[in-house]
Amino acid sequence: MSTQLAIMRQLSFCAGHRLLGHEGKCAFFHGHNYKVDVEVAPRDGGDVLDGVGRIVDFAVIKQRLLGWLDEHWDHGFIVAAADTNGIAALALVEPGKTFVLPNNPTAENMARYLFDVVAPEVLGDLPVVVRRIVVWETDTSCATATR
Ligand SMILES: [Zn+2]
Repeated sequence: MSTQLAIMRQLSFCAGHRLLGHEGKCAFFHGHNYKVDVEVAPRDGGDVLDGVGRIVDFAVIKQRLLGWLDEHWDHGFIVAAADTNGIAALALVEPGKTFVLPNNPTAENMARYLFDVVAPEVLGDLPVVVRRIVVWETDTSCATATR
């Protein structure tokens, strides 16, 4: 069995959100300094590296995925599609930046969205498979999406 290689790039962004149905203070609008860990491996498995010795350049992961995060989530508000009251309130803010997630913007649902929707869109043409995406909501709390 050959050695399996993977790389991880950590990305950061800031965003506001709230959680519908939360029993406590997360029901209110508030924000986090999020971190996202994205781990990728060679699509063909094993230790397939390019001529330089990389799976993919770290800067490519940063450019693609952080580019998406900057455009859609950074310094914006992430709200659930069912949060009609929150969406209506955010629509009054000029300028405003609101991203409507299909489900409540928990770290779990954000990790799943990045894994299922965003990563295939922004990394799909690279010779890599995304193994894991971790969304850190705080320094001590994170959610992991894998397949
Ligand atoms: Zn929160």
